[in-house]
Amino acid sequence: MTDAIIYTIPARLVPVFRGRKMIVRSHDPSEIVENVIAADLNDISFIKLLSLAGSIDSLMAWGAEIPVDLVVSDPCRDLPLLYRYAPLLGTHPVRVSVPLVPGIGNVVKLAVSLGFAVKVEGGQPEESLSDELQRIARFYLHQSTVSEPIEFFHSLFLAFYHQDPVTLWIIQEEDPSLIRYVNDQGEETLPGRLAGEGDNQGLSTFLRELRDGTAAEPGECAGCEFLRHCLGYFKWPAKEYRCDVVKVLMHTLYSAAEELRADMASLHAPGGGEGR
Ligand code: SF4
Repeated sequence: MTDAIIYTIPARLVPVFRGRKMIVRSHDPSEIVENVIAADLNDISFIKLLSLAGSIDSLMAWGAEIPVDLVVSDPCRDLPLLYRYAPLLGTHPVRVSVPLVPGIGNVVKLAVSLGFAVKVEGGQPEESLSDELQRIARFYLHQSTVSEPIEFFHSLFLAFYHQDPVTLWIIQEEDPSLIRYVNDQGEETLPGRLAGEGDNQGLSTFLRELRDGTAAEPGECAGCEFLRHCLGYFKWPAKEYRCDVVKVLMHTLYSAAEELRADMASLHAPGGGEGR
C-alpha cells in the first residue's frame, strides 16, 4: 500500500522523492519552480505556499497547471495578500487553507469571492469562535455565489447527505495511512496534528484502530452522534478538549443534509414534483 502514500515534502527534497506521490511546500514559489521538473508534474497533488508575501512572478511564468494551496497563518495580516493571487486562477486551481482562529470568516468570504476553494484547518476551535463558524456554515449552505468547495464543510455535508462513511481524517488530508509529512530535516513524521504521536509503523490501520478504540473508551466520543464521520478528529492535540462548538457546527451541516434528503425524497415520491 506504500505506493498510495502521498509525501508532503519541502521543495528542495523533490529530487529525493522523485517517482513518488508528493505535495510540495515552500515559503518561496521560485524554490518550487526550480526544483520541480516536467516529469514530476503527474506525481504532485498540489503545491503549498507557506507564506503569501513573496514574489509570484516565477509561478505566473511557470506554465505548469498544477493546483496551488495558499496557507493563511494570520487572517488579519494575510487577508489583503489574497488579492495578489487572483491572476493565478487563469492557469492554476487555487485553494486557501485557513486556521480555525478569529478572522477566519473574512478570509473565507474573500477567498470565495475571488473564486478560490477553501480548506478550514486545525481542529479545536475556542467557544468564542462558535458564532463565526455558524456564519460560515450558513454562508456555505445558502449563498448562491459559493461555487468552490469550503472544506471540511462541503465533504462532511455530502457525507451526511449520501450517508457515506468518509471521515474527517481523510477529508482533512490527515489520515496517516494515506499521507506522511517530511519535515525540513528530511525526517518522515505523521501528518498534521498527529506529528509527534509516535512512529509510522502500523499506521495503515490507523482509522480502524481509532474507530475501535474511540468507540470503546468511555468519554465524550463514545456516545457522540458524529463518531462515524469524526472518529475523534477534534480530540487532537488536547484530548480533554470539549466538542460543544464543533458539534453545533456539525449539527447544522447534518440538519441541512437531512432536509435536502427529505426534499429529494418527496420530489421522487409518487405524486411528487419530478416530471411535472
Ligand atoms: S465531535 Fe468530538 S466527541 Fe464527537 S467524535 Fe468527534 S472528537 Fe469525539
